[in-house]
Amino acid sequence: MCPTLSCTLESYAVKTRAVTSDCYGSRMTGTALMSAVIARANRSWCLFLDRDGVVNARIMGGYVRSWSDFEFVPGALDALRTLARWAPRIVVVTNQQGVGKGLMTENDLSHIHDRMLRAVAESGGRIDAVTSCIHLAEDRCDCRKPRTGMARAYLDVNPEIDGSLSVMVGDTDSDVEMGRRLRVVTGGCAVFRISAIDDPLADGTYLSLAAFAAAIAPLLPSE
Ligand SMILES: [Mg+2]
Ligand SMILES: [Zn+2]
Repeated sequence: MCPTLSCTLESYAVKTRAVTSDCYGSRMTGTALMSAVIARANRSWCLFLDRDGVVNARIMGGYVRSWSDFEFVPGALDALRTLARWAPRIVVVTNQQGVGKGLMTENDLSHIHDRMLRAVAESGGRIDAVTSCIHLAEDRCDCRKPRTGMARAYLDVNPEIDGSLSVMVGDTDSDVEMGRRLRVVTGGCAVFRISAIDDPLADGTYLSLAAFAAAIAPLLPSE
């Protein structure tokens, strides 16, 4: 058993009983999660995190165009504080086609991200970098998810990070597909989906980032 793990599988089951209604035990999500935590303990790796629908509320059929449109998902800030204890790097990878469509400027987007980073830091969390694809779907760029360009660009300039230990968390098919493609490129990537519907293509599905972090928390060394 890894020395940094604070509990055994049995005690993990007890500690997480309160959150099992938020995850899908039939697919042994807890066990997959525990393996993911064990494999990454004391290693240098990166958690890639989708933004809309995971960190902040998604605007259906529209875009977050200014800070006043940006609303953290309930529990997301607390979740980021927990995840900061787990992941040596946390990098947001977000498709923001609204820039390519001219609905907002790159400046608007970086202003939103500055405010987001400040709010996360003020609540004791950490996001190390934000990478955005501002291109249109028809541009066929290398970075728009499900393509892996954003994650690869980060890994390219941070060679100390072991890409094969990557973790991808997102709420759409394209996030899960990005994680699966990254797995092929780097040799490994654990993929978790934020959804009310179990995704068999992911290693685990959780109702929210808060539910995901609540499942991780008992596996971390105590603060
Ligand atoms: Mg999303
Ligand atoms: Zn792009």
